[in-house]
Amino acid sequence: MDCPATYLDGRSSQTHQAMIHLLSDGVRVDDEDGNLLERAMFANLSLSPPLSNRDRFLKFAGGARCQLSEPEMIRLLDARLGSSPGFDMVHILESSWRMVLVSSICLIGFIWGVMTYGIPAAARHVAMAAPPAIMDSLSHKTVEMLDERFFDESELAEYRKVELRALFAPVCADFSQDSLCAGELLFRKGGDRIGANAFALPSGQIVITDELIDMARSPQEIAGVLAHEMAHVGERHSIRHALQHTGVFLLISALVGDIGSISSLATTLPTVLVESGYSRKFEEEADRIACIYLLESGRTTAPYQAILSRMTEESPSDSSLFTTHPATEKRIMAMQEIEAQYRRGLR
Ligand SMILES: [Zn+2]
Repeated sequence: MDCPATYLDGRSSQTHQAMIHLLSDGVRVDDEDGNLLERAMFANLSLSPPLSNRDRFLKFAGGARCQLSEPEMIRLLDARLGSSPGFDMVHILESSWRMVLVSSICLIGFIWGVMTYGIPAAARHVAMAAPPAIMDSLSHKTVEMLDERFFDESELAEYRKVELRALFAPVCADFSQDSLCAGELLFRKGGDRIGANAFALPSGQIVITDELIDMARSPQEIAGVLAHEMAHVGERHSIRHALQHTGVFLLISALVGDIGSISSLATTLPTVLVESGYSRKFEEEADRIACIYLLESGRTTAPYQAILSRMTEESPSDSSLFTTHPATEKRIMAMQEIEAQYRRGLR
C-alpha cells in the first residue's frame, strides 16, 4: 500500500511532501521525485500513540518522522507495530464523552476532598509540629504589625492590669499543661476600628483591648473570653487558618521539612486575626473547649455568653471573636446545649 505523507528529517524543521510505501518487512519513503528518503524494517519503527483525532507520526530510528493522516495506512501500521496498551486506554477514554464526564467528576471530587479535608489536616499537622521559637517569632512580628496598623497604647490603670493578670494566670496555667506556650496578657486600646476585642497569638499571648475590659460587667465574663482565646492558642488556630489560606506551596514546604518557612506567615497573621477572622468551625471549637473548661472548673458559661452577645451588638466591626449576629446567636445556643448536656451528665 502507498499513501502521501509529510516527511521531517529530524535535523531541521523543514517538511517535505513524500510518498510512503508499505512493504512486507518494513516501509520505504520517497520524495516527490521518487528519490529514496528512508528505508526501515518494522523492528526499527514506532508509531506515536493515538491521542484525540490528531495525525499519527511514524518514527524512524535515526530521528526522522512521517506525519500520517491516511486512516487505512495507520490501521495497517498499527497492526504491524502495535501501540502500548496504556495509550490505547487513553484513546478509549478520550473517545468516550461519558468517560470524560465521569473522569472530570472524579477529578473535581478529588480536588474538593483535598481542599476540604487534605489541606486542613496537613495544616494542623504542620501547626502542631511548629517549635516554640517559631511561635515566639511569629507572635512578636504579628504584634509589631498590629501595633503599627491598628492599636494604640492602653489607657488602663496599672492596678486593673495587675488584677487582670491575676485573673489570667490560672486560665493560662490550665491551658498550658499540654502545650509549650508562654501565656501573657497584652493591653492595648482598640480605638474606632477594633473596639472591644481580644486576639490570641500563636505563642499564647492574648491581646485584650481597653474597650473589652470596660464592657465587661464581671471578671467571670473576661475569664470566659480568655478561656476562648486560650482554646485558639491550644488548637493553634491562627497558624492553621493562615496556613490554609496562604497557599499550598508554603504548606508543602513546611510538610517536607522546611518548617522555618512558616515564619513567613507573619505577614498573613495580622489579617487573619483582625480582618478576616477565624472560620466558624474554629470559633465553635474554641467555644466548646472554653465551655468545657469553665464547666469543669465549677463555673457556668452564662457570663461568657453574655459578653459575647454584648460584644456583637456594640462592636464597630466584624472581628475575630465574633462575626455576624445570626452566627453569634447560633454559637450562644450551642453553648447552652453544651452546658445542658454537661449538667445532665452530672446528674
Ligand atoms: Zn475566637
